[in-house]
Amino acid sequence: MKGFEYLQEQLDEMKDEGTFRKLIPLESAQGSKVVIKGKEVIQLSSNNYLGLTSHSKMKKAADEANEKFGVGTGSVRTIAGTLQMHEDFEEKLAKFKHTEAALVFQSGFTTNQGVLSSILTDQDVVISDELNHASIIDGIRLTKASRKIYKHVDMDSLEQALKESSDFRTRLVVTDGVFSMDGNIAPLPQIVELAEKYDALIMVDDAHASGVLGDNGRGTVNHFGLDGRVHIQVGTLSKAIGVLGGYVASTKTLREYLIHKGRPFLFSTSHPPAVTAANDAAIDVLLEEPELIEKLWANTKFFKDGLEKAGFDTGISETPITPVMIGDDALTHKFSDELFKEGVFAQGIVFPTVQRGKGRIRTIVTAEHTKEELQEALQAFETVGKRLDIL
Ligand code: PMP
Repeated sequence: MKGFEYLQEQLDEMKDEGTFRKLIPLESAQGSKVVIKGKEVIQLSSNNYLGLTSHSKMKKAADEANEKFGVGTGSVRTIAGTLQMHEDFEEKLAKFKHTEAALVFQSGFTTNQGVLSSILTDQDVVISDELNHASIIDGIRLTKASRKIYKHVDMDSLEQALKESSDFRTRLVVTDGVFSMDGNIAPLPQIVELAEKYDALIMVDDAHASGVLGDNGRGTVNHFGLDGRVHIQVGTLSKAIGVLGGYVASTKTLREYLIHKGRPFLFSTSHPPAVTAANDAAIDVLLEEPELIEKLWANTKFFKDGLEKAGFDTGISETPITPVMIGDDALTHKFSDELFKEGVFAQGIVFPTVQRGKGRIRTIVTAEHTKEELQEALQAFETVGKRLDIL
């Protein structure tokens, strides 16, 4: 297209350096095994931690909601698109999270954007971990608040930023609960201590902790026994919960404020009934089937131990997100391609998602994987590791 030649030039550059990637369509339902290019492979790249994307109770709830309420809502929440089930689900979610209220956004991404962009003004400062998710970074870019970035999980750096922030009306510390590329958990008890010392508020993004950490998957705050001491919890319904959406769990005041001022909430159509019904059923599943979370963690330990025994570097992971560190960007993609030949789908993550030279295969096992599948995957990693001279 004339005038946009530079777009193609950038794509060509990516092709030259081996970082251009095509989208890879699945030809089956999400699961521990998926079909790609006609071949059945072990899936190690989804966020479907508990296998809920195909849970029978959730599919049934979605089917019934489709039948009864149709496939769409026809309006944004604030005009004519709020169904009773949207409100019922939010109440259930708040109760589950041990908070006063909850509000659902279309995705985790828009939740972070909507919350951060609306609650802070030029009188405030936001203090953010340098490795926070892109949606937090974009949300911060949309505010008029001052910004301070502290070194990744470095409490001295956070304290320094807090010390320098005494003049602002509100100091908001923002952190991922679980960091999505390394799988480490934020040191929330220390963050809470510092925030209390300097009279700051805290927002935690529990995208990768909802359904994974805490009692019945209540998240990082609950995992550390900090219920009531973290002011804003956001999270996604699209990973372990298995469906779609984002939420903020906090006070009634914040909920009402966001209904009036949270732009993605205000200006984008509400979730279809099937989505909300399935999300709602997922909370029941978390409460009724805690063995799913136990299996997720047992599988994680088995797989991580196997990778480490084989000689791979799994970085600083403490959760089911287990990176296998490779380094070079092109080699990382090559590793992923070779794994596919061995029957394993595990995507490479390279710059700009992670720092240059810190390319990795990011794996996430799920509660659905069998021991045999994980054993087979470990064998594939070892074969490829030796073939590419990494082991
Ligand atoms: N926060 C974090 C930490 C994430 O990893 C993600 C998903 N990539 C999101 C927010 C966005 O969630 P969603 O996919 O529901 O938009």
